[in-house]
Amino acid sequence: MEYRFLGKSGLKVSELSFGSWITIGDQSDTNGAYNLMKEAFDAGINFFDNAEVYSAGKAETIAGKVLKKAGWKRSDLIISTKIFWGGEGPNDKGLSRKRIVEGADSALQRLQLEYVDLIFCHRPDLYTPVEETVRAMNHVINQGKALYWGTSEWSATQLREASHIARENNLIPPLMEQPEYNFFRRHRVEIEYKPLYEEMGLGTTTWSPLAGGILTNKYSGGIPEGSRFSLEKYSWLREKRLDTPEGRDKVEKTRKLKEVADEMGVTLPQMAIAWCLKNPDVSSVILGASKTSQLKENLKAAEVLPMLTEDVIKQIEKIVDNKPEGEKDWRL
Ligand code: NDP
Repeated sequence: MEYRFLGKSGLKVSELSFGSWITIGDQSDTNGAYNLMKEAFDAGINFFDNAEVYSAGKAETIAGKVLKKAGWKRSDLIISTKIFWGGEGPNDKGLSRKRIVEGADSALQRLQLEYVDLIFCHRPDLYTPVEETVRAMNHVINQGKALYWGTSEWSATQLREASHIARENNLIPPLMEQPEYNFFRRHRVEIEYKPLYEEMGLGTTTWSPLAGGILTNKYSGGIPEGSRFSLEKYSWLREKRLDTPEGRDKVEKTRKLKEVADEMGVTLPQMAIAWCLKNPDVSSVILGASKTSQLKENLKAAEVLPMLTEDVIKQIEKIVDNKPEGEKDWRL
């Protein structure tokens, strides 16, 4: 396992990390989660991603039990949580000071931890002044309940605003962003955030490297029993991500991408994850797996990285046909 600095911080995060959305709590109980997290830890993964909203807190509760049972050294672990959706009450959503302070406390209780390493604002909150959120995140850090803070799916403009407010007030700015990044969603990581990697020292922990499983090619012949998009509770996700013209286009492109992976003699998930790793602006690719066999397969992605030659990248670009373009240079 290789370790990358999380942005311009001194923190080293495994280039592959392990997440818990849907998989822990909905698809695995404590025993299943233990097997998955142990597989990940034994392979050198040090970063375990979580959020208060995952299985309505159950993912954190289970992760807490697994950490207790495994007894891994706390200093060998990077544990995250994400705050935004904490419940249904008028103050249970968003990024107000009350929400962040109470959300962090509840997450720590469920995780049975004194602190999380990373705390994320799970989405931007259009109703809370950014200064309130920046000050609340600093408060949580100053209380020793988190070590670094960041955002998920914030725009570059929102990130810059938070960073400026922090610097003007001698506060800690956000360090990391958690965006979706895979063959089908590239613009933010490759173009929008590009100036921020230098300007703010921004690190990225990217999600859904397999577009929720589409990039395994398992959906090319329908929806397999037990797969993510077959889950009744997540039918909204299937409707949004699979049962749309864009979803069908992804499935079609995935078929062609598989041919490239086949030619290389690797699996498509390995090729897709390696492609994310190839981007040096990615600090860690968060893997999702409902079975240890999937995780074992995906963990080999780093070995595939050197096989992504210019020729292979060209073949991929031709299929995905979505290379994002930056600002046009009108002087040329
Ligand atoms: P992926 O896109 O990699 O999807 C993972 C799912 O794909 C697995 O749970 C499994 O689903 C299927 N899969 C994975 N590998 C294989 C394989 N080798 N063969 C067959 N099927 C496979 O990642 P996720 O969408 O799970 O995201 C990863 C993590 O990122 C999350 O756990 C979470 O921590 C984070 N995240 C953050 C978000 C944010 O807003 N900040 C949003 C989403 C995720 P199945 O077996 O059920 O079909």
